Amino acid sequence: MEIKERIPMREQDPKERVNNFDSVPLGYSADEAVAEAKRCLQCKKPMCEIGCPVRMQVKDIIALIKEEKFEKAFYLAKADNAVPAMTGRVCPQETQCEGKCILEKQGKAINIGKLFAFVADWARRNGVTSKINVEENEKKIAIIGAGPAGITAAVDLRKLGYKVSMFEALHIAGGVLQYGIPPFRLPRDIVDYELSYLKKIGVEIKLNHVVGQNVDFNNIKEEYDAIYISTGAGAPRFLGCDGEKLKGVYSANEFLIRVNLMKAYKFPNWDTPIICGKKVGVIGCGNVALDAARCAKRLGADEVYILYRRTKQYAPARAEEIHHAEEEGIIFKEMVTPCKMTGTEDGWVNGIELIKTEFKGVDKSGRKRPVNIENSEYIFELDTVINALGTRPNRLFLNNVPELETYDWGGIKTDNDYMTNLSGVFAGGDALTGGSTVIEAMGNGRDAAESIHSYIMS
Ligand SMILES: Cc1cc2nc3c(=O)[nH]c(=O)nc-3n(C[C@H](O)[C@H](O)[C@H](O)COP(=O)(O)OP(=O)(O)OC[C@H]3O[C@@H](n4cnc5c(N)ncnc54)[C@H](O)[C@@H]3O)c2cc1C
Repeated sequence: MEIKERIPMREQDPKERVNNFDSVPLGYSADEAVAEAKRCLQCKKPMCEIGCPVRMQVKDIIALIKEEKFEKAFYLAKADNAVPAMTGRVCPQETQCEGKCILEKQGKAINIGKLFAFVADWARRNGVTSKINVEENEKKIAIIGAGPAGITAAVDLRKLGYKVSMFEALHIAGGVLQYGIPPFRLPRDIVDYELSYLKKIGVEIKLNHVVGQNVDFNNIKEEYDAIYISTGAGAPRFLGCDGEKLKGVYSANEFLIRVNLMKAYKFPNWDTPIICGKKVGVIGCGNVALDAARCAKRLGADEVYILYRRTKQYAPARAEEIHHAEEEGIIFKEMVTPCKMTGTEDGWVNGIELIKTEFKGVDKSGRKRPVNIENSEYIFELDTVINALGTRPNRLFLNNVPELETYDWGGIKTDNDYMTNLSGVFAGGDALTGGSTVIEAMGNGRDAAESIHSYIMS
């Protein structure tokens, strides 16, 4: 049987899009979505569903799209996934559902992510909202942190009739979906719309509530029957090398927060500019690094380099993001590792010392291990450096709860049911695992909601 090619996704032209922060993919039309859904073989044993952290019913959703039953498809998607328009856009589908699609062997996997985004966008445009039938109970659950893990736990617990309050440090909910991932990958009208669902189903969101600073954890503990900690892993890791404190050196989190959350990309219409030079180096090659690089390009940098100690085939970033970055002219400088940063007399960064690497053996992750080549150091001139070497949980919250057991790196310890060493206090998402993915954090939120329910019932 001849397997047809994927229906291509229309996208903004790379030359145009480097001048704006609008969505890169333009989305499937209804006809395109139906045509893509028709390629699905509707396997008896749908491999695409195996391992989906939120257990989405991929095969049945696609069958409904194929029959143009978009409303039903949306309800089915929403049953397991509180934010399908967002996960459809940012999930690493190539290593999850699409990677397991039987058609992937021919490189023609069904475009599951874009189909789910289509269905959720269709519902938004047509004012279709999924309603919930709640049998109310009097038990109160507090969720600390309104990112993907907290949002998912909140929705599932609300569906079970609990009174759910979310405590969020920032002035808006969404976690990384708001402050990290740029609008050209995740348009903010879509984020806002999907998050408005929380209020619609009766979740209380307490913004500007920084637990550990203006709210005390013990007060929450007294007032609520159970707590879910989903404070993420927002604290950046640093190299600890010379020159890291020079002006013009950012952590990726700071850079992205200034650009996305504080809207530097809208300057001068917003009062919060950012200094971004003309020759920018970004250390790392995950989604965070590529987001920072693509933002720098859009802010007017002439040359943007990804500085990576492996080759990009081993990079943790999503395949789509690497592809888009290359189209936009981001330069991948592979097999180098930074040693230190150099600066001008008045304290601005003007270069980075790199050492060349070579592969020797394999590391724990199964990827080739890069090792430094002796005496291969050289200075590479740059005027901005962005460090995207990963993150860990923020101490601000953890310091407020010294009795909470954590690993040395800051991750919260839990048992298999996501309960911490404190009875009735559960944890999940990046606060538990360290930097992971949106869908893993959401899966964690779902599983923890089940555990919290069992705990309260018992
Ligand atoms: C720039 C960037 C790009 C990414 N790209 C992708 C991608 O393309 N695909 C993908 O799958 N994953 C991606 N990720 C990873 C993904 O976003 C995270 O794994 C996911 O958001 C984790 O969800 P979470 O709910 O655990 O934490 P977060 O999203 O970090 O949310 C935690 C929330 O807790 C709040 N909080 C923290 N401390 C407190 C406190 N003391 N009191 C109250 N609230 C608090 C924070 O303000 C935040 O809103 C990316 C991450 C970043 C940083």
